[in-house]
Amino acid sequence: MSDYQPLRPQAKGPIGKLLAPVAGFGVTLGSMFRPTVTEQYPFEKVPPAKRYHGRHQLNRYADGLEKCIGCELCAWACPADAIYVEGADNADVLVETGGGQVSPGERYGRVYQINYLRCIFCGLCVEACPTRALTMSNDFELAGPTRAGMIYEKQDLLAPVAEGALAGPHPMVTGTTDTDYYQGKVTAPTADQVAWVREHRPDDATLEAATAVVEGTRPAPAPTVHTLRPPATKATATREAARGGHAGELTHDTPGGPLSAALDAAGSTARAAATAGPGQTGNGGIR
Ligand code: SF4
Ligand code: SF4
Repeated sequence: MSDYQPLRPQAKGPIGKLLAPVAGFGVTLGSMFRPTVTEQYPFEKVPPAKRYHGRHQLNRYADGLEKCIGCELCAWACPADAIYVEGADNADVLVETGGGQVSPGERYGRVYQINYLRCIFCGLCVEACPTRALTMSNDFELAGPTRAGMIYEKQDLLAPVAEGALAGPHPMVTGTTDTDYYQGKVTAPTADQVAWVREHRPDDATLEAATAVVEGTRPAPAPTVHTLRPPATKATATREAARGGHAGELTHDTPGGPLSAALDAAGSTARAAATAGPGQTGNGGIR
């Protein structure tokens, strides 16, 4: 004799049949008296976890120079082909500005784009970055009015100049190398840098605070920057207006800090250049 028992429920009795049409209300009634867990977004914004992978940020050194050297390693590591980078020579900037540069060393990122229609927020680009220029923020509000607007440009991703730092381009700290910068030996703008900016850009908005740092009347910029978002540009302002404003805590790397330590393994996956020609990868454009 077989042990087979059908999984089909037993047929209901007369009372079960009578209550069947209203049985579903039992779930409703049971839920009505439980605490509400609905988040009232966008009126109340619940902060995501601290290590949440949100919008990227291009960071700066303590004197205001950019960390990105335009090496394209992030673009080559990206599995979604979302990043487009064009590097350029600081030597050209030195000639154009009469002595200033955008980042320490030979190269800087002249063009930097991330296509957020393609990005899967995996963080491989952050791991590949050799200068800790690229980190990810907690900003998750990345909706935009147009598909083209979802390609964030360098000015949308670049960290604001910290209070007390000096906006670039300007000379490196005298006697230092790009390695010194990377090792965190530059902790504030110097009198030489302030004097150079005062001579070449006397109206620079960051001069006053940087001068105060040099004179010792205000503390040096914090090595770890926590801020809400980069300053509004035309592109971000348009995007911001379309989505009704947003805020998100940005997390940055600190020389020798926990994030830098966690990023020590820089594994990158070489990808064939798909859209941008030899030697470069593209961000896929609008497809
Ligand atoms: S987070 Fe991942 S998908 Fe997005 S840009 Fe970086 S590597 Fe590409
Ligand atoms: S890997 Fe880092 S330094 Fe190189 S281009 Fe990307 S963000 Fe800039």
